Amino acid sequence: MDIDKLIVEYPMIQDMINCDEVFWLNEKVGQEAELPFTMQDIDDAGARLARFAPYIRTAFPETEESGGIIESPLIEISKMKKKLESDYEREIPGRLFLKCDSHLAVSGSIKARGGIYEVLKLAEKIAFERGMLAETDDYSVLNEERFKQVFSEYSVAVGSTGNLGLSIGIISAKLGFKVTVHMSADARQWKKDLLRQKGVKVIEYQDDYQRAVQEGRREAAADPMCHFVDDEASADLFLGYSVAAKRLADQFKRQMIACDEDNPVFVYIPCGVGGAPGGVAFGLKQIFGENVHIFFAEPTHAPCMTLGMLTGLHDQISVNDVGLDGKTAADGLAVSRPSKLVGSIMETLLDGCFTINDEKLYGFLSSLADTEDLFIEPSACASFTGPRHVLSAEGYLIKNNLKDKLKNASHILWATGGSMVPEEEMKAYYSMGK
Ligand SMILES: *Cc1c(COP(=O)(O)O)cnc(C)c1O
Repeated sequence: MDIDKLIVEYPMIQDMINCDEVFWLNEKVGQEAELPFTMQDIDDAGARLARFAPYIRTAFPETEESGGIIESPLIEISKMKKKLESDYEREIPGRLFLKCDSHLAVSGSIKARGGIYEVLKLAEKIAFERGMLAETDDYSVLNEERFKQVFSEYSVAVGSTGNLGLSIGIISAKLGFKVTVHMSADARQWKKDLLRQKGVKVIEYQDDYQRAVQEGRREAAADPMCHFVDDEASADLFLGYSVAAKRLADQFKRQMIACDEDNPVFVYIPCGVGGAPGGVAFGLKQIFGENVHIFFAEPTHAPCMTLGMLTGLHDQISVNDVGLDGKTAADGLAVSRPSKLVGSIMETLLDGCFTINDEKLYGFLSSLADTEDLFIEPSACASFTGPRHVLSAEGYLIKNNLKDKLKNASHILWATGGSMVPEEEMKAYYSMGK
């Protein structure tokens, strides 16, 4: 690959190579495009999760209150808004919210959406094939030993930087599948320990995430009874994440948050391979169209989606190709190459991407704890510079006719993980921020 030529064509790549923070705006947003999924696919995934609710409710009693639906609150964070206004040295017109996927039941991160969905879908397919289950049944029967017996004939494998492994491992083990998680070097020790406690086979690699995924894929290919959860290309993961948009639309209604021509909503989501933020973005654009504006946040050392989107090369380019190391304290985002599925779908849906320095993550983490008593992991703090970028982007605001509407805007920071981080570890993050 001729990197020098790419830099001439896209000078922003030089800033990325220097590990400077960048803010990239997508010229193609809003254009017509043929997309591989529709609202029907999101509805289908939502209906499947509803069928499984009676099972989830009994298998994970912490979901009792929500009737077995794994969903997170949308919280207005006015005190953090004041703090950000003083950090940014500018006012943030409109309201600021945190979408607390950091506190999702079962696995404490956004992966409790896509990851759990994919394994449930697999279990349903097997149970249907065996004639043990029908769509109209009460799915709490899946707790019965006879189902675990059947599922134990199958295995599930996944490669992960941590949180996806946690989510796939927990749900697969609970259903009775044999499960192997291939963990990259970035994965935290506590995640590996927790999975092993639950009977999950954890294989560790000294290399990055891509190697872990490769090994998982290879293991699965050799075994017809093994289902590989492919974080780099899975449609099921993507659609599981997309259901978040329907749920968010309901929350908007209940909490009287408007998203229409006069009341724009800006959503900022931390991005690794892109599956989780991509699925959410796809769902939100299906529902809210041009009234929702979505930005992805990445670490300066691993800006794979920004690089793929800006060059249009998507998974054909890796951050290593331009000399970046992909190493970051944001372990959930420590990915060098974006998903092959997601980039092209985002071409006309995403308003832009931005990058953030690792050191800033801890500062936001401790500020959020101080102001709102909410604890989230470093990766989940990557979005916190988003509103500043957008509010400073004069040309973008004018072009999209947003300037006069900012006072009616809602800004949503998507907190992607954190509630399962052990207290000691969280204390260490917090003191680093201080
Ligand atoms: C996985 C993850 C993301 C990003 O999801 P991708 O599908 O990899 O883009 C963001 N934040 C956290 C905490 C995560 O675990």
